[in-house]
Amino acid sequence: MGNIIEIKKLQKNYGNIQAVKDISFSVESGEIFGLLGPNGAGKTTTIRCLTTLAQPDSGEIFVDGICGIKQPKLVRQKLGYVAQEVAIDKMLTGKELLELQADLYHIPKKIACTRIEQLLDLLDLQEYSDRKTGTYSGGIRKRLDLASGLLHQPQVLILDEPSVGLDIESRVIVWDFLRALKKAGTTVLITSHYLEEIDALADRLAIIDRGLVIAEGTPSSLKDRIGGDRITLRVKEFSPLSEAQSTKNQLENLSFVKEVIINEAQGNSLNLVVAPNSNSISAIEQTLKEIGLPLFSISQSRPSLDDVYLAATGRTLLDAEMEAVTKRDLKAEKKQAMKN
Ligand code: ADP
Repeated sequence: MGNIIEIKKLQKNYGNIQAVKDISFSVESGEIFGLLGPNGAGKTTTIRCLTTLAQPDSGEIFVDGICGIKQPKLVRQKLGYVAQEVAIDKMLTGKELLELQADLYHIPKKIACTRIEQLLDLLDLQEYSDRKTGTYSGGIRKRLDLASGLLHQPQVLILDEPSVGLDIESRVIVWDFLRALKKAGTTVLITSHYLEEIDALADRLAIIDRGLVIAEGTPSSLKDRIGGDRITLRVKEFSPLSEAQSTKNQLENLSFVKEVIINEAQGNSLNLVVAPNSNSISAIEQTLKEIGLPLFSISQSRPSLDDVYLAATGRTLLDAEMEAVTKRDLKAEKKQAMKN
């Protein structure tokens, strides 16, 4: 199967913010592709360029061989887009909203009627269809957005953070629906900062960080690249801080230890990659005892996509999220202070 989406060397700035520095990836026809990265990584900006809602500063975008910059209208016809947050008319019922949307796409009434009924069934929305959308929960609204994005039967469905604001019931419905959609031949591109979501759904993914692609592949190939199990340990504290480096060096001398990463965000934490199935925990406990470093906690697990992110950036996704939240809070505080 060929590539239905190709993005090459995409760049997009907002003033002096480099939202997308250099992003290239391609999506094969019929697959579920994930863009994984923390808040602020540049996922939405990439998607907005792809859907022709934003103009890139440079780079190339092709959908089914058509250039998104030269022929945005043609590209839009091939795409269904479900944005992270959508402003919908709260006074209309779900069904009325879908009918209006079908009109905007110039879908003949009879065909629209059949498609709306099918989508309402598939997304378990029938019981809500005659209620005003203003009464919907976040999950129901998202399911309606999904139906709306599929009315014109696009070749590619793009969802920005589909799980944000979803209750568990809606999440199960949406995930099953996306898998069924893929089976029926639609290509699906999702962005997410939840690694579980991308791990569960995506055939392939690109991890995005600070406007760059830092890893790309299938979830299992990326995890295999870690080359072993992950051990996370926390000590009470490293004092002085150079103790972290010397502990790292000591642990690297153990035969089964392949790599030790000092966690940048949490000063008292080390992440190790070890040969699988070794009796590693007790040997590490012994080493720390010999150094005289009190151990707070230690755990071993199979590698996850978070380890792939950590290996590339020195931070976990959760740490990066916290960083983004703190930055956002600081910005809001600054704004407020200027107002006062
Ligand atoms: P993500 O979707 O991964 O959370 P975004 O693409 O939304 O990331 O944002 C990437 C960066 O660009 C962030 O620093 C964000 O604050 C900034 N940004 C996004 N949209 C705008 C905009 N319209 N104006 C100014 N800055 C923006």
